[in-house]
Formats: sequence, C-alpha cells, structure tokens
Amino acid sequence: MIIIMEPEATHEQIDTVLERIQEIGLNVQINKGSEQVVLGLIGDTRHIQDVAFQRYKGVAKTVRISNTYKLTSREFHPQDTVVDVDGVKIGDGSFVTMAGPCSIEGLDQIRETARMAKAGGAKILRGGAYKPRTSPYAFQGLEEEGLRYIRQAADEFDMKVITEVMDVEHIEVVAKYADILQIGARNMQNFKLLAAVGKTGKPIGLKRGISGTIDEWLNAAEYIAVSEKSPVIFIERGIRTYETATRNTFDLSAVPLIKKLSHFPIIVDPSHGTGVWDLVTPMARAGVAAGADGLIVEIHPDPEKAWSDGPQSLNEKNYLKMMKEVNVMTEAMKKINELKGDK
Ligand code: PEP
Ligand code: MN
Repeated sequence: MIIIMEPEATHEQIDTVLERIQEIGLNVQINKGSEQVVLGLIGDTRHIQDVAFQRYKGVAKTVRISNTYKLTSREFHPQDTVVDVDGVKIGDGSFVTMAGPCSIEGLDQIRETARMAKAGGAKILRGGAYKPRTSPYAFQGLEEEGLRYIRQAADEFDMKVITEVMDVEHIEVVAKYADILQIGARNMQNFKLLAAVGKTGKPIGLKRGISGTIDEWLNAAEYIAVSEKSPVIFIERGIRTYETATRNTFDLSAVPLIKKLSHFPIIVDPSHGTGVWDLVTPMARAGVAAGADGLIVEIHPDPEKAWSDGPQSLNEKNYLKMMKEVNVMTEAMKKINELKGDK
C-alpha cells in the first residue's frame, strides 16, 4: 500500500502519518519526489483499512497494491490448484460436468435424473435438498430425506454429489452425504457460513453472488481458504443487471479473469446464468471456449413438471445433445491450448 501526500503537506502532517504507520507495526519507505512525498508501507497490510489514512491531514490519496485475498490469489500460488473430489479431478485440464435437477423431488426422480446425467457423461450429480427460495411458500426442499436419495442415486451410478448448504447448523448433515458443498449465490457473503464450511475439508462450490463483484467473490473464497482445509471451485452463475430478457446476465469474462487472478478452478452454470432452457446449450459451449474447468447444468426427466427451475432445465434429449456439442468444444479447446503452449 502506498500513501501519497499532498504537495503542500507539512512536516508535522507527514510525521503524524509516519507515527500511525509505526503504531500499526509496519515499516515504511519514504520517497521524496520533487513535488510530493510518497510513503510505501512494507509488511502485511491486509488488515489495514487504506481509506482510514485518507482522513489524515496532508494525505492526497492511498493506493492498495497487493490484494486482500492472499491465499486465493495466483500471486501467492502460481500453479493451478487441482481439486480432487474423491477421485474426480477438477482443474487438471479435463472438463468435468455436474448435472441434475434443481431440487431433489423424490427417490425415483433423482435416480432417473442420475441415469440421464451419467448417460451424457456427467461425473457429478447435482440436486438441492435445502433450497433458497424467494418465496417462503415455495417448495423448500426435502432436507435430509433428499440427501439420502441423492447419495443413493449417485452411488448407484458411480457419481459424486454436489448439494447446497444454507446454514451453519446443517453443515454436518450435508457433509455426511455430499462430496462438494455448494454455497448458493444468496450466501456468497454469509461470512460465518463460508468460514465454517472451509473447516470441513470438503471442496466448496462457491457460486457468485447475485450482484457480487469479482473482488467480493475472491474475498468470499478467501474466507474459505483461510482454514487451509477446503479448496474452492468458483461457479459463475450470472449476475443481476438491468437486463430482464434473461434471468441473469451470464458473465463469461469472469472465467478468464478468475483464472488470471486465482489458482482455484472455475466452472460455469448456464442454467441459472440464463434461466431459459434453449439458451443453456449455446452458453455451455461458450463456457468451454472461455476456458472453464467444467459445467454445472440443471436437467430433469420432465422439466414441465419440475418443482423448481423447470423453465431452465434440459430434458434428456436436449441434455444429450448439449453434451455432444460440449465434447466437440472440449476437443477444440485442447487444440487451442496446444497452440498457447498450455497444458
Ligand atoms: C441452484 O443451484 O439451484 C441455486 C439455487 O443456485 P444459485 O444459488 O446460483 O441461485
Ligand atoms: Mn436451481
């Protein structure tokens, strides 16, 4: 962090700032330019509020150089982190698909969806048992009963499970059945929940908040990373903008940007990203092209009858078609990565 003093700052004003820096326990490099004094703070400035210095008389501005999300940043960890989900690798250059219904509705429904998901090549079964619904009158999920069903269905088809955990009090039960704990968009800044799931050691699928900035998302990941137990999988699921023609605005630029700024893998969720089933396949293809490490997609044996998110869910035929196209794209990406000398 650097503090730029005003050209007319007095010696006393500069000394007051220097005293404060010393009080905090940081070292300082003093640069006397021809116009103004610039103070370079040396040490761990993550806990310092740079804006607080702007209140001191004689300070023109402060500039933060290192970011506050150290453990999540690529600067700290230049190599890609490969997340091992009980044998299924995410971020190793392969492309992993997670598919399943928005909500677990019953054993037959989740078994049938697992069969479809597996037939298309998905290795991870998704499905919500604790559902964050906008209306308190909407279906809230089957809770532990649902967790039992999704585990049973995943085991039958040799798949892993990703499912959402909404509260600290449910972490234990969700972790008992799931391989990846999903933090939903509405909870991206539930800091107590982030810190608590980070201690489980299970990989955490961290959705981007409904209006989460990239910086906020990276800092949310840092709350998980501080435990140094659970790795993070970023999930881009679209953000709220002024556009109303789609459910969200699917921000694909987040994929290469997160890859540049962080070592953790990122996957895309074109289902919530668009909210419209016939936009899901083109956006899944685009996600591969953007460099995502995988895809999470909502599918349902009978989307018209789904208890939640039917309009964005793919039926079997459309899901299998999407997967064929995704496979073509992943092959093309291998060639593109060879050109770049990557992987
Ligand atoms: C979901 O995955 O079904 C879900 C509720 O997603 P999000 O948190 O991204 O809205
Ligand atoms: Mn959903």
